[in-house]
Formats: sequence, C-alpha cells, structure tokens
Amino acid sequence: MTVLIVGGGPTGMAAALVLTVNGVDCRILERRTRASNSSRALGLQAKTMEHLAGLGLADDVQRVSYELGGASIMKGDREVVHLPWIPPDSRYPYTYVVPQTGLEEILRGELARLGVPIETGAEVDRVEQDDDRVTVTLTGGGSRTGEWLIGADGARSRVRTELGIDFVGDATGETYFLADAILQGVPTERDSAMWLGPEGPLMLMSLPGREDLWRIFVDRTDRSRHGELGEPDIATLQQILADRGHPGIRLTELGWTSIFRTRIQLAERYRAGRTFLAGDAAHVFPPFGGQGMNLGIQDAANLAWRLARVIRHGSPTSLLDAYERERRPVAAATITDVEGRRKVYALRHPLARGARDLLFRAFGSNRRAAAAGSRQNAQLATSYRERSWRDRFAGDTLRVGDRAPDGPLADGRLLDHVGLDHHLLLLFGDDLAPQHPDLVVVRADRTGELATRYGMTEGGYVVVRPDGHIAELGQGRPSAAALALR
Ligand SMILES: Cc1cc2nc3c(=O)[nH]c(=O)nc-3n(C[C@H](O)[C@H](O)[C@H](O)COP(=O)(O)OP(=O)(O)OC[C@H]3O[C@@H](n4cnc5c(N)ncnc54)[C@H](O)[C@@H]3O)c2cc1C
Repeated sequence: MTVLIVGGGPTGMAAALVLTVNGVDCRILERRTRASNSSRALGLQAKTMEHLAGLGLADDVQRVSYELGGASIMKGDREVVHLPWIPPDSRYPYTYVVPQTGLEEILRGELARLGVPIETGAEVDRVEQDDDRVTVTLTGGGSRTGEWLIGADGARSRVRTELGIDFVGDATGETYFLADAILQGVPTERDSAMWLGPEGPLMLMSLPGREDLWRIFVDRTDRSRHGELGEPDIATLQQILADRGHPGIRLTELGWTSIFRTRIQLAERYRAGRTFLAGDAAHVFPPFGGQGMNLGIQDAANLAWRLARVIRHGSPTSLLDAYERERRPVAAATITDVEGRRKVYALRHPLARGARDLLFRAFGSNRRAAAAGSRQNAQLATSYRERSWRDRFAGDTLRVGDRAPDGPLADGRLLDHVGLDHHLLLLFGDDLAPQHPDLVVVRADRTGELATRYGMTEGGYVVVRPDGHIAELGQGRPSAAALALR
C-alpha cells in the first residue's frame, strides 16, 4: 500500500482519483459507515470543473447541476443591484450548482468503478511516521501502513492534531441557519438573491432538480447573542422570512438544515514528514462565494500529481515542497477575500449599509471590475508565479506558474489535451519533438491565436503541468532541463 488517505469527503476522494489515474495504489480510511446526507457546499467553480474534466467527470456534474451566473441584491420585491457575471475564459465559465452530496456520489461512483477501496468505519486515532513509512492506528483497533499519508479529514482533523500542527485563527462570531426548502412565491426571477438588512444577510439560492427548491442562508447572530436562536424548523424559518419582509414566501417542505458558526483558520504548515494536510483539514472559512470545497479539490489535484511523480517516476521529493508553497498562499488569499465579504455583509449601521449599497451599485455597473470578480470567483486567477520582482511585474506576460490559457489547435482545444495523469508539451512550429516517455506532445502553428496568447510567434515551447499550470516555457527547442517535469 502506498498512499493512505484519511477522510472520504470531496478532498480525499479527489486525491484518490488523481493518484489512481496515475497508477498509484491508495486507500481511503473513512470513519463514517454510511455516506453523508449533508447538503453543505453548493458550487463548483471553473477551475475545479477543469480538474473534474481531466478525470472525465465534468459531464456527470453538468447533468445534475445548473449554471449560475450573477446574483441580485434586493430590497423587498425589488432588485436594487444586479451583480453581473462575466463568463471567464474557460470551457466551464459558470458556477455549477449541485449539493455536495451530489458531487460526492459522482466521486464515490468513479472510485468504485476504478476499484479504489474506501474502508468505512475506520476512524484514525494515532499517526506515527519515520523516514520510510506512516502508520495509523484506528480507534476500533488495528493499524494501516503506507509510504505517504494525506490528512483530508476535515476541519477537526485528527491527523493535524497528531502532527502537532497549529490551526491558526478562531471563530468570527456569526451564526447562520442553513436550510434546503421548498418555497413558493420567491420574489425574484434570479437563481441567487440576497437581502442585506439590519439583521445581516438573508440569501436564497435556487437548487437543481426542482423549480421551487431553494437553499436558505440567514444570519441569526443577533438572536444567538440574546439566547433566542431557536431551531431551523419550518415554523421558525417561515417566521424569519416574514420578519425579513417576505410574508408572501411560503415554506411548504423542509429538507437538510444546519446551524453554521463561522470560523477562519489556516494550518500553520501543510506537511510534516511523509504526511500532508489538504482541504478543510488545512483551511476553513465562511462559505461566501462558494470557495471552500473547491479549494480542497484543487489542493488534492496539486498534491496528488506530485506524489505520483515521486512514487512512479522517481522525481526528487523536493517536488513535494512546492505543494505547501503554492497552495497555502492561495488559501490565505481566499481567507482575506472571504473575510472582506463577511464583514461587508454583516454591517448593521444604516450609514455603513448605505455606503456599502452604493459601492455594490458602482461595482454592478463596472464591467471591468465585474469581469475581474468573476475570474477570481471562478478561481482562474490563481497563479503560482515565483515572487521575484521580475515575475511580479510581468503583468499579462505569461510566466512559469500561471494557469495555461486555452485556445484552438488543429485538433480540438489545448485544454482537451491537459490531463491529471501527464505533463503536456506544446510546441509552436515544426521542430522535431524531443523524446520523453511521460509527455504528451501537441503542436500549434506560429500564426494562430495560441501563438499570440503565449507570445510564441517566433516559435518556442510550453510545458503544462497536470493541474493546468505552466511548468516551463521558452523560445527555441526545449532543453533536457526544461523537460525535467516539475
Ligand atoms: C454546515 C456547513 C455548510 C457548508 N456550506 C458550504 C457552502 O455553502 N459552500 C462551500 O463552498 N462550502 C461549504 N461548507 C464547507 C464544505 O462543506 C467543505 O469545504 C468541504 O466539505 C471540505 O471537504 P473535505 O473533504 O476537505 O472535508 P470534509 O467534507 O469535512 O470530509 C472529511 C471526511 O473525513 C472524515 N473523517 C474525519 N475524521 C476522521 C478520522 N479521524 N478518521 C477517518 N475519517 C475521518 C469525515 O467523516 C469526512 O467524511 C459547509 C460546511 C458546513 C459544515
């Protein structure tokens, strides 16, 4: 057994799939005995969809989701601002709305198809490691040993505790009710709307599968502080809707509910020895913008292709150091962004709320700002550029670490050829392709759209990593060093 994965949530299952398509043996240890029925995260962003496409699963997600673009800020029955969505440059340019349970079913189905074991009822209690292997002890007795371990065991990660890694941060003090409910008489045609009143936000988001199925997300912080929280049952939620100015919305059925207390925490390190943290085990923050689960799946992709190169292809273990170097700053930046949204949504003072609404109006009518916001929310703006002065000020000029832009080839599009199980060499011009057993080679001509986008009208090459970022690029023929597959 090579890689043990603790936790069979979206992060752990995604890691297992990427390892498996790379031919690496792995096993998931999951303490549950049954699949979770907890609806939780709702949105898959473009970047995650590109990874799922690399696993052959994007079509499955599209079948059970709908495409969300934009949101409304409402006052009563009136839309006061439409926050537009400018579809970014991706084959999947929307947020794909599906409850987390729906995504987990797809991931679990694929793992079963590929014969990857998920050991259920296996709760990890202790983690011990030396230079060659990691051993976990289960609460019910017994142990499992692997060469590497991924702790994808969620916000209360036992693996993180066992490694002695600090989870820096705290509760932010807000309490929300979450509920999936059948609602009649919702006063908007949009799929996503929010009312930002003096008691904090009320948000409604349409769910796939039924016209009248909605996610309710409502701030209960003030009530909670006064000890009047109540339960998110039909009567309480119906009363909340009336109190928030919506006596016309009728709640007729209630599905999953939850009381959500916001926390912001980031693991001090993502690695200790042969063990890594990924997903909620490494970072937690409120769900504004639907980023959390996406970040976890992207952690999994970044880590798993690296592990596969080390295990299967003998790449140096230094390749693994870049996992934390790349992914932790992405989580830190997301936390800063989400924290900004949280504070803005939570404003109570009328003057502050008035100023906020003016800002939203300005944002809504500024196409450039909306395009940048959409790209960021889609997680396509993520770059792993080195932080040298030269790279920092390179502006739009493509650099190592940037996401490889898509574009047309004679045979399909570039991103059709990117996959989580290989590096890709894109050659501009007719030079002979260098021989390399682990590379997929594609060609583009020097006069086409791709050559312009990559600045390669004089010829050159780009090596694209399995997760769609640029590993190397340069003019002329690639050297052996350029093809070291980092
Ligand atoms: C109430 C709620 C609402 C949310 N809403 C949203 C939302 O609207 N949008 C959004 O983007 N995100 C939301 N999130 C966050 C989102 O659900 C997480 O980001 C996502 O589940 C992270 O996936 P993960 O695989 O990293 O962790 P998890 O989904 O937590 O999976 C961890 C897995 O590890 C298992 N496990 C734990 N400990 C052990 C152990 N010791 N041994 C073995 N197995 C173990 C657990 O049983 C679980 O299956 C919400 C979270 C909650 C709690």
